Amino acid sequence: MKVPFLDLASTYRELQAELDAALHRVLSKGWYILGEEVKEFEIEFASYLGAEHCVGVGNGLDALKLTLEAYGIGPGDEVIVPSNTYIATALAVSQVGAKVVFVEPDAHTHNIDPGRIEAALTVHTKVIMPVHLYGLPADMDAINDIAARHGLIVIEDSAQAHGSLYAGKYAGTLGHAAAFSFYPGKNLGAFGDGGAVVTADIDIAEKVRELRNYGSRRKYFNEVRGCNSRLDELQAAVLRVKLRVLDVWNGRRRVLAERYSSALHKVEGLCLPSEMDGFLSCWHLYVVTTPYRDDLQRHLMQNGIGSMIHYPLPPYRQRAYADLKIALGSFPIADKLSDQVLSLPMGPHLSIEDVDYVSELVVDYFMTDGKPASFLAH
Ligand SMILES: *Cc1c(COP(=O)(O)O)cnc(C)c1O
Repeated sequence: MKVPFLDLASTYRELQAELDAALHRVLSKGWYILGEEVKEFEIEFASYLGAEHCVGVGNGLDALKLTLEAYGIGPGDEVIVPSNTYIATALAVSQVGAKVVFVEPDAHTHNIDPGRIEAALTVHTKVIMPVHLYGLPADMDAINDIAARHGLIVIEDSAQAHGSLYAGKYAGTLGHAAAFSFYPGKNLGAFGDGGAVVTADIDIAEKVRELRNYGSRRKYFNEVRGCNSRLDELQAAVLRVKLRVLDVWNGRRRVLAERYSSALHKVEGLCLPSEMDGFLSCWHLYVVTTPYRDDLQRHLMQNGIGSMIHYPLPPYRQRAYADLKIALGSFPIADKLSDQVLSLPMGPHLSIEDVDYVSELVVDYFMTDGKPASFLAH
């Protein structure tokens, strides 16, 4: 038996008739950039989220970058990001010329620890950029409270949080603005790159609209030096089909996550993801932590089970950020998590039987002679 970490082709097959029809509709119309599909998707996604405005862009990184740019963030400004995030969060800040300021996550939620944010603020801080990592919403009341007291902007990196809920509201509507990615592997994924900026602020939405299209509001007249980062018609048509099943597929992920948790909660020392009251994950990933991570991953691989590490090296330790000269060990929680996290197979392609098989192998691994004793030492 094999359990792939992800199987995008099977999710295509499930919706093949609708997806093929949507693609064909766009191809035969002959209009491929900034047309009806993008316009309709923007309306439908905003309406799904309960958001005011949605602007489709080329990818998630650009969604973050263009949002920062729309708020006028640039050289001399500082932006708070979690120390254990995917590097895109930090890159967006660097790309507008601002300074990345890392703040450690809570070791259990893996999300930025609000209790550590104030110590990182300076007179130059302009933005807090929480990430709803693995789909679990960040502690937004605490973050918004700090932001309000210090006059800061909150931009949610919602690239892993399509359909996550916090206090009854969708991730992406919890701060001043939010960035989504529609990279194929995300909960709402296109057949290529795609992204969106979501906000209640009409000026910011209009600014992003201008920036994504050469800084132009009227064809061949350019107000600012913008870029080319547009969600295309084919991807928008695909996303419109997939948006209709997002809650159903997220529901499937939830059933699988709960199945994992009930099978694995007794494994001594294995840390499982959990949701606090009022936080509902979209279960983009099901991430466990264990000091035996590499060995466990090998065991799973030998038995035909795919797993991944999100992420093996924190941004501050990447060569791309060597110029920041941040000493090794400056972010011990991010370091420890990067050594211990393991993402088990998760997605709408999986059955309960798949999850039971994976769980059995995980339990089996920890029951091997000798392991629990040394394990308890950690
Ligand atoms: C995927 C992702 C991004 C970037 O999205 P792309 O569409 O790949 O550019 C940004 N932040 C986080 C947390 C992500 O997971």
